[in-house]
Amino acid sequence: MIVEHYDVTFKKQLGQNFLKRKEVVERIADVCPFTKHDLVIEVGPGGAILTKELSKRACQVLAYEIDEDLKEQLFKKLENFSNVNILFQDFLMSSLEDDVSNYSYENVYFVSNVPYYITTPIIMKIINSSLPFKKICMMVQKEVGNRFSAVPGSREYGSISVFLSYFYNIKKEFFVSRKEFIPEPNVDSVVVSFTRKDKLLPLKNKDLFFTLVRDSFQFKRKNLRNNLKKYNLEPISTVLKKYGYDLTVRAEQLSVEIFVDIANELVV
Ligand code: SAM
Repeated sequence: MIVEHYDVTFKKQLGQNFLKRKEVVERIADVCPFTKHDLVIEVGPGGAILTKELSKRACQVLAYEIDEDLKEQLFKKLENFSNVNILFQDFLMSSLEDDVSNYSYENVYFVSNVPYYITTPIIMKIINSSLPFKKICMMVQKEVGNRFSAVPGSREYGSISVFLSYFYNIKKEFFVSRKEFIPEPNVDSVVVSFTRKDKLLPLKNKDLFFTLVRDSFQFKRKNLRNNLKKYNLEPISTVLKKYGYDLTVRAEQLSVEIFVDIANELVV
């Protein structure tokens, strides 16, 4: 078994658990159907093991790495890969749309073994960006992957499941053991993909939808009447009735379609 060598001091606080084996990285890179006309965004190239595979498959790779101490090693490992551009900055603070505007491409994809401490902010930044990501492929902590793909009525179903299922069809691609990383973390992982839905449900006010969903799940054990006290409850009750529910229902029972319907009803 060939194991990638890294000459770095790993920084736990930056989520630095690097993949060791090319076989795992190839499977991740195979999830998206890149062509030589496409652009891929990667967060956290780390030791470039995934970046190299992406660079072989797509036309251009734009990567964000927060840790400047990795610069020398990254440049060395990528010296023969001329289609990779690394911006040494915090992805969460980046001007993604501006950075991408310098490229011409057919489709844009997002592929990353994300730093787990900022998984949700990364996803929210992608969802809220105006870039039409054709497919997103992420390695995340196993339990987080379960939340992303959770369906109404299940324990893991939460606001992030609703947001994601509004925009994407979600698929758990494959499991990755903690043994595949260096240093070995104390969690297992899963690779998940999000494919943008061809047709999104019509939404009159996206911000209102996001706020409504967040508020509905604010206290998981409370019902809608209690979580949505500050809202006009009459139209909410009317929509719920259509689906056979009343205000005593908990958010975890409601599908994305019902949330969209309520959000649209609240727009005057
Ligand atoms: N892609 C490599 C791999 O698969 O082996 C490394 C993945 S490691 C889990 C996450 C990487 O994200 C690290 O290199 C870390 O320095 C970087 N990172 C952490 N926070 C970041 C941020 N806010 N913006 C950009 N990169 C970040």
